Amino acid sequence: MYKNGFVVACARTKQGTIIDPGDEVEGLLAFVRDRGLTIAHILLTHAHFDHVTGVAAARRALQVPIWLHRADAFLYERTVDMGRMFGLELEAPPPVDHYYSAGQRFPLGDLEIRPYHTPGHCPGGVCLAVTDNTEGHGTPPDLFVGDTLFAGSIGRTDLPGGDHAMLLASITDVLFPFGDAARVHPGHGPSTTIGHERKTNPFLTGKG
Ligand SMILES: [Zn+2]
Ligand SMILES: [Zn+2]
Repeated sequence: MYKNGFVVACARTKQGTIIDPGDEVEGLLAFVRDRGLTIAHILLTHAHFDHVTGVAAARRALQVPIWLHRADAFLYERTVDMGRMFGLELEAPPPVDHYYSAGQRFPLGDLEIRPYHTPGHCPGGVCLAVTDNTEGHGTPPDLFVGDTLFAGSIGRTDLPGGDHAMLLASITDVLFPFGDAARVHPGHGPSTTIGHERKTNPFLTGKG
């Protein structure tokens, strides 16, 4: 069940956020303490149980609001049941505080995070796009895509609420426009770029 959770923070102000705290939550919290970061929120790319098993611990440690897309609330509420199906006894995550809305921005010092709805792997999947607004910083965005897109693969769509055509549309219509240089950080496995996946991913070649 190896998956990725992330800490994103502004190097100048040390304001940050935690994305998808799962079983690796203690490592994420240690990183936050070591760097002296002030975490503003817990942002979820989607609510499959492997991405939320650390939400309760993160919430206890940080006392910050939890954000999710509304269309994944039904999955979030089923976390304990889903874990049992995989033979795991999980702690129920605390209630979501807020749902994302279109056009929303989360400022973090010199950084800004915006959620983009990318359904297909599940109904409420989002891409969390991080841009650096420092003057003269033309760096490509960092995309935290959850299980929508992987290095060399795409998200499965055989789980409740999955839709293969919708997943492909989310990748080509929402993720590709960020440009080939945009860095992609999936929920499982290594990071990649939009350009690399657009040109070499067997599920995507010839689609944009
Ligand atoms: Zn998932
Ligand atoms: Zn996953």
